[in-house]
Amino acid sequence: MSEPVEAVEADTGQVPLPVVAVVGRPNVGKSTLVNRILGRREAVVEDVPGVTRDRVAYDAEWAGRAFTLLDTGGWDPEGQGMAARITAQAEIAVVAADVVIFVVDVTVGATDADEAVVRVLRRAGKPVVLAANKVDGPTTEADAAALWNLGLGEPHPVSALHGRGSGDMLDAVLAALPDAPPESFDEETGPRRVALVGKPNVGKSSLLNKLAGEDRVVVDAVAGTTVDPVDELISLGDREWRFIDTAGIRRRVREASGAEYYASLRTAAALERAEVAVVLIDASEPLAEQDLRIISMVEEAGRALVIAYNKWDLLDDERREMLEREIDRQLIRVSWAMRVNVSALTGWHVDRLVRAMDTALEGWTTRVPTAKLNAFLGEVVSAHPHPVRGGKQPRILFATQADSRPPRFVLFASGFLEASYRRFLERRLREQFGFAGTPIELSVRVRE
Ligand code: GDP
Ligand code: GDP
Repeated sequence: MSEPVEAVEADTGQVPLPVVAVVGRPNVGKSTLVNRILGRREAVVEDVPGVTRDRVAYDAEWAGRAFTLLDTGGWDPEGQGMAARITAQAEIAVVAADVVIFVVDVTVGATDADEAVVRVLRRAGKPVVLAANKVDGPTTEADAAALWNLGLGEPHPVSALHGRGSGDMLDAVLAALPDAPPESFDEETGPRRVALVGKPNVGKSSLLNKLAGEDRVVVDAVAGTTVDPVDELISLGDREWRFIDTAGIRRRVREASGAEYYASLRTAAALERAEVAVVLIDASEPLAEQDLRIISMVEEAGRALVIAYNKWDLLDDERREMLEREIDRQLIRVSWAMRVNVSALTGWHVDRLVRAMDTALEGWTTRVPTAKLNAFLGEVVSAHPHPVRGGKQPRILFATQADSRPPRFVLFASGFLEASYRRFLERRLREQFGFAGTPIELSVRVRE
């Protein structure tokens, strides 16, 4: 469990760059085009098809707009026919990309392999800009026009080698980019939504009173809901927090039959609406099954998590030691959670609780740019490659953070990654990018 609340190094709040992927058969000029877009004269291009390049993602810019450029030419899953390989590459690219540049060599024309890629691109429904490459002079313009047949719209004649037409093509790419960032970050300027949860008698309403003081503003959560939960807006630190369903905390139903079931429904509903959960635990008593269940609910809901050990004023040395052992044994799984020890009764460390909520939310919203992620994983994997199994060594081809709130990563690998290796990668990601207080998800897609 991370002791509270050091500054984390992370790209928090950073608006993610849109991603542009360059796909196409080997030798059509993808790499030359990438170098052209990056503005590098000394194109690092090999004349051997399918040469594995060491980097796949670059920071690029055109007409003042920054984006991440993916060169899929570097991914070369072995042991397959060429058509299968490039469709696999296209599938990876469309997962990661906002816009795809599909490169076709006009001196060859559209091949069966090109048609196969077109089918993948169509299915994905992502915007595609068709680059008709190797139009080095006006005589080949007509060959470019023939590519209308692919059904991907206007072919943009370019010469990646000489630069001809690449500006117009990039204008088309920018026009196809989403206007706003893929995810709305508006919510983050409003009050942050927090669910204060925990089994009965742990001190929820005491803590709420301590936090709110005179300041609370009662607001209806969602008009017209049957359970009619009521939230409270409370200013803490330098921002406002919306405490979800405080009516459920303040109104006591514990005598009623079915109370526990009802309480856990309410907890689940509050977690759905929350961004960060504060799970309050009575530290003076042994950890209970119900405490663990509530923590699992937070994890499953994918919310940022702060565990607050309350009633710290009641603890003697013996109980403190026992608690640490209980935490080591039973909560190791959520060792990423923020931890604070508090006393709702005296107000001790309640300020730290607020800082922990802030930190957990930072981790929860963190976005790692694709280029940075792949550069980092490249280093990690070359220092600690996956163990060889049955003569094979799975390689990581490419990774992207598909989502935040909570952070979700998709890794494309050439073979199955063992659970221990995935945990290792998760650990390194946490060390590097600071996901304190947030669950992160790492899924692996295997491309043989
Ligand atoms: P990739 O395998 O798709 O990345 O293709 P490369 O960028 O490695 O290019 C393959 C070959 O095509 C290289 O010899 C390049 O010099 C050549 N090439 C790339 N673009 C052009 C172009 O616009 N015109 C001509 N004539 N050749 C090109
Ligand atoms: P809830 O059911 O989770 O809302 O818990 P309450 O806030 O009603 O608290 C249950 C009991 O624990 C009350 O008698 C509180 O006074 C007491 N309590 C809450 N927080 C603390 C604390 O930090 N220290 C001590 N000693 N007692 C506390």
